[in-house]
Amino acid sequence: MTSITIAGQTIAADKTAQIHLPAIRLYTDTDISIPIQVITGKKKGPVVFVSAAVHGDELNGIEIIRRLNQHPRLKISAGALILVPMVNVYGVLNQSRYMPDRRDLNRCFPGSEKGPLAGRVANIFLNEIVNKSDYGIDLHTGAIHRTNLPQIRADLDDPETRNLAEQFGVPVLINSTTRDGSLRQSAVEAGKKILLYEAGEALRFDELAIAAGVNGVINILKHLGMTNMRRGKKKITPFVAYNSGWFRANASGIVRSLKNLGDAVEADDVLAEIGGPLGEVLSLVKATRRGIVIGKQNIPLVQEGDALYHIAYFGKEGDEVAEHIELMQDLYAPEIF
Ligand SMILES: [Zn+2]
Repeated sequence: MTSITIAGQTIAADKTAQIHLPAIRLYTDTDISIPIQVITGKKKGPVVFVSAAVHGDELNGIEIIRRLNQHPRLKISAGALILVPMVNVYGVLNQSRYMPDRRDLNRCFPGSEKGPLAGRVANIFLNEIVNKSDYGIDLHTGAIHRTNLPQIRADLDDPETRNLAEQFGVPVLINSTTRDGSLRQSAVEAGKKILLYEAGEALRFDELAIAAGVNGVINILKHLGMTNMRRGKKKITPFVAYNSGWFRANASGIVRSLKNLGDAVEADDVLAEIGGPLGEVLSLVKATRRGIVIGKQNIPLVQEGDALYHIAYFGKEGDEVAEHIELMQDLYAPEIF
């Protein structure tokens, strides 16, 4: 490994260093920095960044990085691992998805030195971390009051990215090639291979999401020849969803949810009942075709039009996907404490 320089600090081979990457100061005359851990191996190898809380209220990724960094057997033998638990430190401070200028940091890439606040922070992260890496794993969760089944979103049309996505070890992969000003888009345009991990809900820890995430990152590091750590105990087969869609409330009311994350559903299966304050059923939300629940609203109060269920479609492989989701749930469930 040759050395790596971040924020003017050079880290030699076979070292561990904490870096505080200076970001934009607060108006309270307070310095702000993005905390970073760099772990370099003895041998040459790829540089991988793992980032979390680009949306400041998405906390599972922070916990994934904390556990990874404290993992007793984490040893990087080749290349370098850059851990960035809080990209949007401002959002974490405010327990908010957004930047203080109300922008979504994940829509402000690549940004620029002279642009708006969010774009400046995006630009710092891009120059100091993404551009110095070969691979990246960006950790996200569902929005507030919404949970996602652990899933990888990536440009699966790119063979190397697809192979990486399959190595992560979650059953659901979603092909996503959006051009939206996201970290992922800028990284892909810079020639980096990027996975986006989505799991759990904002402002909450979700043990399945965290355990599957820690294991997934280790699987990738192992696959890239950067560590000798043990892989997950059982192989979970990944399946690519060819399509997905949101099911919305068709009435305003109180929701009795009948399906959970990971459940297989058939056409006409009732996903939820929406009722009035005295218990009368006002309407049923039904699946329209065979699929798997990969996202769900948790707050049991809806206005007509609110998104309730995110369902992914897998064609003939549907039953097998459900089996591997159960396998994942079984694998990580005992770790709840
Ligand atoms: Zn997010």
